[in-house]
Amino acid sequence: MSRFWSNVVHDLVPYTPGEQPKVAGLIKLNTNENPYPPSPKVIEALHAVVDDGLRLYPDPNAHVLKETIARYHHVQPNQVFVGNSSDEVLAHVFQALLKHEQPLLFPDITYSFYPVYCGLYQIAYQQIPLRDDFTIAITDYQRPNSAIIFPNPNAPTGLLLPLTAIEQLLVTHPNSIIVVDEAYIDFGGESAIALVDRYENLLVVQTLSKSRALAGLRVGFAIGNTQLIEGLERVKNSFNSYPLDRLAIAGAVASFEDDAYFVEKCAQVVANRNWLIKEMEQLGFEVVPSHANFVFVRHLRHDAAFIAAALRERKVLVRHFNLPRIEQYLRISIGDEQQNRALIMALTAVL
Ligand SMILES: *Cc1c(COP(=O)(O)O)cnc(C)c1O
Repeated sequence: MSRFWSNVVHDLVPYTPGEQPKVAGLIKLNTNENPYPPSPKVIEALHAVVDDGLRLYPDPNAHVLKETIARYHHVQPNQVFVGNSSDEVLAHVFQALLKHEQPLLFPDITYSFYPVYCGLYQIAYQQIPLRDDFTIAITDYQRPNSAIIFPNPNAPTGLLLPLTAIEQLLVTHPNSIIVVDEAYIDFGGESAIALVDRYENLLVVQTLSKSRALAGLRVGFAIGNTQLIEGLERVKNSFNSYPLDRLAIAGAVASFEDDAYFVEKCAQVVANRNWLIKEMEQLGFEVVPSHANFVFVRHLRHDAAFIAAALRERKVLVRHFNLPRIEQYLRISIGDEQQNRALIMALTAVL
């Protein structure tokens, strides 16, 4: 606390990211990173730009990356916004598009960065309770609002809302902007990008951090109609002209260009997820149906905080949110085959 702080700083409640341990040898299943490395072509592309060119600023518009993403997702480059992580893209979205007369709506159990951005930008919001089975019921959003945001699949539940429900939401709220945060869509969901040409009130946000194994590179993007993108560009160009450095642009482009590797690794994570769900159910866990690279689980007899602490003693990190309604759940990222076996062994010893 300091008397030199701006007023808004006093009331900020910052986001707490999952632990990045300083010691080696831990099995990290706590932040939904990809267990597999990024494509070797990404590493090559990064090496290729580490030279005297770093003297120069990067392209402020990251044109090559926007064109690559546009081609990949069958949209125009001016329908693509890119940023230094999807968290940064989301921050610009909150400031540029979600502050209006009526409140912003999002689920009560969801990505906990949303209320943080509302605090930062002083945006009025209401949290809409998920149903008891943690599903989003779109009819619950029939109340005064100017905007709606949710992850699909939702985090930390992993539950997927079908595209038909999203389309219904777009049709029934033509005057609200609907933002779909698709951080986990590549693990078995159907992207709402297919709808952006038909609904001017839709913005889809994605990240390269999870499905493309590039959490360390910090690249995210949004796709929507050109006016929404222009609003985001205005905010971005009032904040940082060069959010993506030369390495981030080169690595991200290379990732989209190696589609075979991407498809193979996503399928592997999904196969591992199916294996892990079966094993966990045999150990007495109830597993929320997941379309993401994590599972949200509750043990029918043992306390979640106890299990998390006991796993940590056995060098396995998982995420426990000590929050109303979900304090008996654990969110466990899908690891590679070896990590998942180690998790099951540790759980067998603990329970
Ligand atoms: C991980 C995550 C993000 C942030 O991804 P970055 O691009 O790494 O900032 C955004 N939304 C949800 C729902 C996430 O789980």
